[in-house]
Amino acid sequence: SSASAAAPAPAPFQISFEFFPPKTDEMEATLWKSIQRLAPLTPHFVSVTYGAGGSTRERTHHTVHRILQETSLVPAAHLTCVAATREEIDAVADDYWNAGVRHVVALRGDIPGGDAPYFPTPGGYAYAAELVEGLRKRRDFEVSVAAYPEVHPEAKSPQEDLDNLKRKLDAGATRAITQFFFDNWAYLRFVDRARKAGITAPIVPGIMPVTNFTQTAKFAKVAGASVPSAFAKHFEGLEDDPETRKLVAASLVAEQVTQLAQAGVKEFHFYTLNRADLTYAICHLLGLRARTVQADRGTEAAS
Ligand code: FAD
Repeated sequence: SSASAAAPAPAPFQISFEFFPPKTDEMEATLWKSIQRLAPLTPHFVSVTYGAGGSTRERTHHTVHRILQETSLVPAAHLTCVAATREEIDAVADDYWNAGVRHVVALRGDIPGGDAPYFPTPGGYAYAAELVEGLRKRRDFEVSVAAYPEVHPEAKSPQEDLDNLKRKLDAGATRAITQFFFDNWAYLRFVDRARKAGITAPIVPGIMPVTNFTQTAKFAKVAGASVPSAFAKHFEGLEDDPETRKLVAASLVAEQVTQLAQAGVKEFHFYTLNRADLTYAICHLLGLRARTVQADRGTEAAS
């Protein structure tokens, strides 16, 4: 019948995009151009990162509110434990809830200032698992949490890190999003270990479309992600050649995502770094197509 012919084909993959709150008007303009470019790919949600310190917190709120007001995207607000009391964090969560936010990515948070050892704030949530519990008790948020295929750098052992992930999910989180990685085997082995440990929630790979290799190698070191030597080699000599770097980056991330899809992965989270082009291209390769506004009214239209 014509009714069934008009029914939207199921999307082959579920995707989500991560953005960071912009610091300047110029960065804000770049972010909004990227959001407008990526929105027609109809992501499941878009998440906005959160930093310690008043000004970055305000920027996260502003970005989340603007997404709610100006787009039909579903925002997921990141929230962290660091440098705040439970009351302060609960108040932020309430504000989000009252504004219509229904999805939170609950994290311990990066240590402000970098290298210092982590100490819980007196009167605060000590770890992400406690934050998940606190949020779920308070409101019916959908909660996502972080997972580390190559083990969180501060974890005592891989087993304790996996136990921690299980605690976060048992506390009411329903999805894990991984730290970025370049070694697909590390991810696939990790998912396997998690399943054997009784974790059933989706463990969505976090994909970082790299263009600035030097900067990414620094991030990777801090995040405990390994950079395969072949990967580093592909960027050798391209320090002053951003055009070629971008083409190389595109082919590498295409290969990474294609391999994961072949291994059965159905959901991807993209660390967009507020840029649309590479992420858009990878989503296109995955078979995702921009939908026109009519799709929102239930009449599938691909553009
Ligand atoms: P947790 O799950 O609390 O774990 C932190 C460490 O403590 C682990 O080593 C764990 O094994 C250990 N641990 C847990 N519980 C205990 C316990 N009871 N006793 C002893 N050790 C314990 N950072 C930001 O600041 N803002 C963001 O917006 C942000 N977004 C992120 C999004 C994703 C998808 C990911 C993967 C990371 C993000 N980060 C962000 C970084 C994150 O905050 C850091 O990686 C942080 O160091 C750990 O956060 P977590 O939520 O994984 O912590």
